[in-house]
Amino acid sequence: MSNQIVIEKTKSPKQKPDQNNLGFGLYFTDHMFIMEYTEGKGWHDPKIVPYAPLSLDPSCMVFHYGQAIFEGLKAYKGSNGEILLFRPKKNMERVNISNDRLCIPSIDVDFAVEAVKALVNVDKDWIPEAEGTSLYIRPFIIATDPNLGVRPSHTYKFMIILSPVGAYYKEGLNPVKIYVESNYVRAVKGGIGFAKTPGNYASSLKAQMEAKEKGYTQVLWLDGVEKKYVEEVGTMNVFFKINGEVITPSLEGSILSGITRSSTIELLNSMGVKVTERKIAIQEIYDAHANGTLEEAFGTGTAAVISPIGELNWNGNVVEINNGKIGELSSKIYDAITGIQSGKLEDKFGWTVKI
Ligand SMILES: *Cc1c(COP(=O)(O)O)cnc(C)c1O
Repeated sequence: MSNQIVIEKTKSPKQKPDQNNLGFGLYFTDHMFIMEYTEGKGWHDPKIVPYAPLSLDPSCMVFHYGQAIFEGLKAYKGSNGEILLFRPKKNMERVNISNDRLCIPSIDVDFAVEAVKALVNVDKDWIPEAEGTSLYIRPFIIATDPNLGVRPSHTYKFMIILSPVGAYYKEGLNPVKIYVESNYVRAVKGGIGFAKTPGNYASSLKAQMEAKEKGYTQVLWLDGVEKKYVEEVGTMNVFFKINGEVITPSLEGSILSGITRSSTIELLNSMGVKVTERKIAIQEIYDAHANGTLEEAFGTGTAAVISPIGELNWNGNVVEINNGKIGELSSKIYDAITGIQSGKLEDKFGWTVKI
């Protein structure tokens, strides 16, 4: 593979959006990265070109059978102007985990990190600097064979696009109300739950929409077999603090291995807080609430970083967690992770990568 990224700069840069009103994923920068895969040739022709629509044959495999994967990570502008990425290699290693499950050829992890760096560098003026903002990075791969046969594609596109984003929840770090989903399931062991692939998102929309209609922000997914054990919250991993100990569901094939999840576990360990990865039944959480030991609950993911849970509704049984207020540990972890990401706190873990 030729590792030389050809850069073609735009002749008509776009107007940048208001930094204080970015929302999430609404604006895109001036450039995008694109690289092709052809069977027999491998990944080739990496390019950074002006951001523009694609022209694809309507029979492209991705449109019909969803052979695709994606990633999400962020770039921050540090206080002295340096550009910081948070654990980008982890994302690109995860691309190959997802690729393997979706029968997409693997990418070169180090080259993909270099591609992210090169693209962010070209569009560095787009990194917002207002509090809580960042540049969201969306790498993705789509199957492009023009063919309706059901088989893995022989051609793919690997692309990276960039979007300046505001804080995920514009109301700030407020606890959200969560509906425990007892009807729909997200994933089962043996399926695609551990891969970052669009199909998982498509199948989650119905539950999310119904939860919204009932006044809930997101759903808490239970396991797809017994509907007994907690798996994830919306598109985030989930943590519970019970009697001083933090518990998060163990990864057993149906749960996505979040980078914020593993960073949270490492942080808690370094703070001397006991963390356990194991199966946790929704009944156990309700029992802990009943006996007064359920202290905090929160979701973790790149987009929101930490999302505190203030209320759960499981089959009409409503419990409030920490009086609906953000927990002490939840806010400590939020401050620690966002502090490291933005370069405001010392990064003793070596997580950030300077561009
Ligand atoms: C991306 C994602 C997460 C969070 O992963 P991070 O690496 O922390 O952003 C959790 N669950 C699902 C289903 C996801 O797609």
